[in-house]
Amino acid sequence: MVTRSLTVLALLLCALPALTQDWDSFEFAATELTDGLWHVRGAGGNVVMIAGEDGVLLVDDDYEQLGEKLVAFVQAQTGRGVDYVVSTHWHFDHTGGNEALANSGAVLIAHQNVRRLMAVETRIELLDHTQPPAPDAALPSITFSDSLVVRLNGEEIVIFHLPNAHTDGDAVVRFRNADVIHTGDIVFNCGYPFIDTSNGGDIDGMIAAVETIIGLCGDETVIVPGHGPIGTRADLETYRDMLSDFRDAVAPLKTSGMSLEEVQAAGATAELDEQWGKVFFTPDLFTAMVYATVD
Ligand SMILES: [Zn+2]
Repeated sequence: MVTRSLTVLALLLCALPALTQDWDSFEFAATELTDGLWHVRGAGGNVVMIAGEDGVLLVDDDYEQLGEKLVAFVQAQTGRGVDYVVSTHWHFDHTGGNEALANSGAVLIAHQNVRRLMAVETRIELLDHTQPPAPDAALPSITFSDSLVVRLNGEEIVIFHLPNAHTDGDAVVRFRNADVIHTGDIVFNCGYPFIDTSNGGDIDGMIAAVETIIGLCGDETVIVPGHGPIGTRADLETYRDMLSDFRDAVAPLKTSGMSLEEVQAAGATAELDEQWGKVFFTPDLFTAMVYATVD
């Protein structure tokens, strides 16, 4: 069980895999994106923090093991506690800090399907991972179906759902004035992404979701992906093309009757694999995600 958890942690982690096994010595680091808005780099998914007179809001809150440390980090960084946490989706490398944050006084906000998935034992078949039900305190208390706007520190924070992409409960968080978008795990800016096919994830939804986000971007828009370095509209376009090309390589092979194993062995995505298949999820695993959900 321990070995399996560490494997899953390593898989869901983009950077610093060695450090996650040593939670005690792990340190968060913050980079200011614009006045009052920070990218907080942790061990799990990318965190965005807005802090000012009205309060502090986080987008995602890393692993459970780092929850208390994140509470302390924000306090040290801003001199305040966290008022709101918005979760981009249910995965434990994005919602793990929920319980500690809620206990410190934060209100948890997420799409309604995040609460549904977190409330029960949930399987991620592709990773052979079983996530136990989250404690009540870790469940979002404010949920929404389509979108929600939070106004804080002069910023308009638009939180909106995109259906069946990385999961069935994805939310994108757009800071309109700052022109910063946290995409959650709809975007990995460092290799093949994960698609949670057990919980509503779908390659076509993923492509459509990226397209929607691109439509909101100008030349200066700052993209905070779920994992990987900060990016731009151009990065999103490259990523969208990769997803689309990969899908178009796999779909006809599936339609022709080939099994997953045969598609994995066919080498149809070899060129893409060279660029995208080395950082994170392997070509075989990403092929399995696309094969499972492509029509
Ligand atoms: Zn995820």
